[in-house]
Amino acid sequence: MASFEVEDLLWVSCPHRVWRPGRVIDEGEGLLLQLEPEDEEEEPAPLPLPLPPKRLLRRNVVLLGEGALRYDNLTEVPELHEAAVLHALDVRFAHQQIYTLTGPVLLAVNPFRSLPLYGQDALRSFAARQVGVAAAPKPHVFGIAAKALEGIRERYESQTVLISGESGAGKTETTKFVMQFLALASAERPAASGRKESKRTMSRVERQVLGSNPLLEAFGNAQTLRNDNSSRFGKYIELHFARPAQLGDDVPNPKLSGARIRTYLLEKVRVIRQSEGERSFHVFYQALAAAANGGDQLEGFQFPPDSFKYLRHDQAKAAEDLQQYEATLSAMSAIGLSHEVPKIFRVLAAILHMGNLSFNVSGESCQVAGEGNTLALIAELLAVPSKDLAAALTTRTRQVPGEGVIRSPQNLEKSAACRDALARHLYHAIFKYIVERSNSSIGVGKESGEGFCGVLDIFGFEFFKENSLEQLCINYTNELLQQFFNVFIFEHETALYKEEGIEWEAQDFPDNADILELLHGKPNGVLPMLEEECFHVGGTAEAWCNKLVRLHEGKGHFSHDRLKKGTFIISHFAGPVTYLCTEFLEKNKDELSADLVQCLKDSDDAFVRERFEEHDRVFGTSQSGKLGGDGRNQRVMKAQRYSVSGEFRQQLQELLQQIERTEPHFIRCIKPNPKNQAFVDGDSSKPFFHRPSVAEQLSYQGVLAAIKVARAGFPVRFWHVEFLREFRCLAPVELRTALEAALKESTDELAPSEAATKSVKALLACPEIQAALSGKRWALGHT
Ligand code: ATP
Ligand code: MG
Repeated sequence: MASFEVEDLLWVSCPHRVWRPGRVIDEGEGLLLQLEPEDEEEEPAPLPLPLPPKRLLRRNVVLLGEGALRYDNLTEVPELHEAAVLHALDVRFAHQQIYTLTGPVLLAVNPFRSLPLYGQDALRSFAARQVGVAAAPKPHVFGIAAKALEGIRERYESQTVLISGESGAGKTETTKFVMQFLALASAERPAASGRKESKRTMSRVERQVLGSNPLLEAFGNAQTLRNDNSSRFGKYIELHFARPAQLGDDVPNPKLSGARIRTYLLEKVRVIRQSEGERSFHVFYQALAAAANGGDQLEGFQFPPDSFKYLRHDQAKAAEDLQQYEATLSAMSAIGLSHEVPKIFRVLAAILHMGNLSFNVSGESCQVAGEGNTLALIAELLAVPSKDLAAALTTRTRQVPGEGVIRSPQNLEKSAACRDALARHLYHAIFKYIVERSNSSIGVGKESGEGFCGVLDIFGFEFFKENSLEQLCINYTNELLQQFFNVFIFEHETALYKEEGIEWEAQDFPDNADILELLHGKPNGVLPMLEEECFHVGGTAEAWCNKLVRLHEGKGHFSHDRLKKGTFIISHFAGPVTYLCTEFLEKNKDELSADLVQCLKDSDDAFVRERFEEHDRVFGTSQSGKLGGDGRNQRVMKAQRYSVSGEFRQQLQELLQQIERTEPHFIRCIKPNPKNQAFVDGDSSKPFFHRPSVAEQLSYQGVLAAIKVARAGFPVRFWHVEFLREFRCLAPVELRTALEAALKESTDELAPSEAATKSVKALLACPEIQAALSGKRWALGHT
């Protein structure tokens, strides 16, 4: 048992609050503890059990009550560990202080209500600089954005703000605040110039850059169980700044010159199905609400929403959807879309109606049921002949050497799969088009050397009951970003020791290189093997899974449960995740029958045709095709070389290369409770901070690991003033007066002062203190 004495302050682990403050009341048998009361009514509760030491942490009194409000940066807390971070966040959150720094990393707890933190005044106060005054950074999203802008202004060095967190934690809102700051603070002058700021109107670029958000959200966000406005894609937005005439801290901020958006892994399966309580992409409901309200340009949408099999519907949102429709339209017009708008909505309508296409079975083949209005309407919307569309859905053509083109029927299952694949691909094509057009309107030229600030808003670590390709890709992304984060923290810490003039040797540096090797190592990594299986004619998910087990079972981070066939487990840095193999191959191939591609390439509508022009380039050779009939085409049975994971890995690699060239800033978003509520039930004065779920997020977001690294060498740290206050009682009498004087002189509670440093040195030189410190590892830094 660690040496605790009566009256020592502790954190005691407890299931509901994770850690509760307690104190030692008796050292008798084992240790007698008493918990601090949580509120006035509660009596102090004795805990008459010898708790295992790992359930006890030493507590520093300063964090109790409102003490935690003093700590804008938690690295200033002398003893930092899970209990201290959690408690400080809790107390600060209760006082509307949703932002806290731990070293360079900003923790942002989502308040789930609007707080007056982002108005013009706040923005101005972060944008205005006092030249030559290095103030301690205030924990705020604008503070991080300001720091990034500073790097561009002073060094014209590119920056990235990496924002992470689970669904609903506030990544997208935070991204928007960062962008808002960067757009509006650009071209702002420093306060010291003495010029009185007048209200500035936004430039066209600024309006367009900020306007791209609602558009991306309409097409890429959806209501889910965890977030009413959940981003179903990852994005990286670069805001580019013109090179200022001069660099320095007393020059105006650089001017925003354009932006570039990159998107990742749109969850297109949402187009064809949604879980209970969730919805499809917002734009569908917006169009339906607008059509019901007499909106023009909406051919094919004049139907009640519940008539579409592809849509889960929630009537309660119609008014909001209608409003959002207007916002979407104006965002489209802001990026210069005009005659394309009705065309986009025609394709969206076609997608919805596709879900209502059913088939009549006759033996091993099938026909589109009813030949009715649905097929005709879809064909009309896509400007293709309805019989060609029907044929492309229900049959498959193949080039057979010596026999020419053979058309064979498809069974119901295959035809339905073709229909759904078409709906998914069409939607993806529209999404990509929206991104492309946004880019060309706000885009930056190819000119190199431009300083930019990238903002990464990307899905956090995911683990559900059933995990598939999407989760593997997402968790792989998080492993890569975690590695990047680890290196950053390590370097930051190294620099800190150097500044303090203290020697250190890195110990227990968290490293997830093994997991990354398991995931992407060639040739036997989980992803390369998956891709290989996809390229292999006749490959199956089962074969892939079996090979993985054979190669990796019992090694490091891979395991598998014999009782659960077709599954494997990967121990990610954030925890173990069980993947279910069944759908991996199909999802990863993401095939669209070549007959359908050809059918749409023959559309009379140039807009539709163009959406498929790139298809062959991206997806490579197809396995079947409507061919010229001259037999020269060698596309017969060639395996494809496209895979979702392969493309994604390529994109990720480019992203990381880009990010590695920049100075990074990290914002970790935290969801305060799983219910997305601002307050606890029935008490609108108590913000709802659910400690167990926050503790979990701190752990899998790597915050705790980062703290461990940071504290690996010297885990307990005192500012000089603080050290004096804490330990002056040990000083011999003759020194006390001097110490008290030094303390009086230090008006600021924590700031280093010369007098304090001198006194610390004197105190450390006393034989009493020397004796107390002997056998301990300690060092005196500059502050
Ligand atoms: P997902 O991964 O599902 O996209 P997310 O992390 O992007 O989730 P957001 O959509 O940014 O989460 O936030 C969820 C909701 O939380 C927002 O719609 C908003 O209501 C609220 N919210 C987030 N941040 C703030 C904030 N700083 N102030 C007020 N409300 C906020
Ligand atoms: Mg989001």
